[in-house]
Amino acid sequence: MPRLVMKFGGTSVANPDRIRRAAKRVGVEVAKGYEVIVIVSAMSGKTNELVGWVEDVSPLYDAREYDAIVSSGENVTAGLMALTLQQMDVPARSWQGWQVPLLTTDAHGSARIEEIPTANLDAKFAEGMKVAVVAGFQGISPEGRITTLGRGGSDTTAVAFAAAFEAERCDIYTDVDGVYTTDPRIEDKARKLDRIAFEEMLELASLGAKVLQTRSVELAMRYGVKLRVLSSFEEMDDNAGTLVCAEEDIVESNVVAGVAFVRDEAKMTLISVADRPGIAAAIFGPLSEAGVNVDMIVQNISEEGRTDMTFSCPVNEVARAEKAMADAKASGSINYHDLVADTDVAKVSVVGIGMRSHAGVAAKMFTALQAEGVNIKVITTSEIKISVLIDRKYMELAVQALHDAFELDKVG
Ligand code: ADP
Ligand code: ASP
Ligand code: MG
Repeated sequence: MPRLVMKFGGTSVANPDRIRRAAKRVGVEVAKGYEVIVIVSAMSGKTNELVGWVEDVSPLYDAREYDAIVSSGENVTAGLMALTLQQMDVPARSWQGWQVPLLTTDAHGSARIEEIPTANLDAKFAEGMKVAVVAGFQGISPEGRITTLGRGGSDTTAVAFAAAFEAERCDIYTDVDGVYTTDPRIEDKARKLDRIAFEEMLELASLGAKVLQTRSVELAMRYGVKLRVLSSFEEMDDNAGTLVCAEEDIVESNVVAGVAFVRDEAKMTLISVADRPGIAAAIFGPLSEAGVNVDMIVQNISEEGRTDMTFSCPVNEVARAEKAMADAKASGSINYHDLVADTDVAKVSVVGIGMRSHAGVAAKMFTALQAEGVNIKVITTSEIKISVLIDRKYMELAVQALHDAFELDKVG
């Protein structure tokens, strides 16, 4: 029988009524003859609440316990979805990550999927189960402890199941009807894209467009999973939503496909560190070990053998970064005059594969920001993206200005 993966995000399973609505969609696919794997998120707001409790109890928490706690939201929705389907006479069963089992690395809080053995679910499908409802976001480590895949990780669970079970399609049901040129909550003129290339979606996701978790796009690209984003609230036909696909399958495209942003960034500067071989390793090694996700890095030109090193990281990792640097200083492996944290910055990026062949995108971006009086603090570029760090209070303004400057409301 053909198989389908359907993933429902937090707002799509926020209460029993919404779960019933999602279950009806699943029922439609079962009636068409599919065996369905449903991946569910926790009810919206639940994971944030659980994370809040963890941080309340233990600010620099043990990641194993973090996972034990924050994975629990998905257990509830998986069971409720299975019960709802049973009420509709659809043979369904819930599965937690460890029961499948979804095997991951032991990187608690951001574990990677290693393997999904299909035997257990296959056996149940062979016995007549029509729907396996799997708790998203969670897996099991080699030590047998519960792991989670990082925020937004249910998307990755969904794509990984689609690859492992050779599903015809992986449909991601969410609270918007597809992938837009930017977050429609920030820019009214954002336009829904019918298709977007894997590479562009990968960049948009990793630069903050949380509609899909980055790793899910990576997996879809690697395994050729047909990945679609669509609304769980609107009636949708088979061609609705946004198809994430290979570059060759895109007919029209703009030089810039979209604008992404990360609101809660911090810019940290180590003032006056020795400019010597190994200094970067001595700084970024301990930061990485402390679990700080360093993003942009800028080293100033040095004066009299000393330099300043600036890096950005998520705001909620500033305390960890400060501790890692203070420890490194105390151990004598680095020496610096001061560590200055600017916790009021945001990152805004433009993304597009058209940049490979079009010059002038950076100049246009900087001009648009200048016209709004937005000061740029740090810049990074790659082949298909340009990112800037700016004051957080200008973030919305910058997103809108760039959306206008690149005329993203119009088709290319
Ligand atoms: P879910 O709970 O279904 O996983 P998320 O909140 O994780 O949903 O992702 C959907 C949200 O992503 C949308 O509500 C929207 O605000 C946001 N978003 C950010 N960038 C984009 C974009 N480019 N296109 C569509 N949605 C986006
Ligand atoms: N519930 C988890 C989160 O909020 C996973 C997900 O929804 O994808 O991050
Ligand atoms: Mg999500």
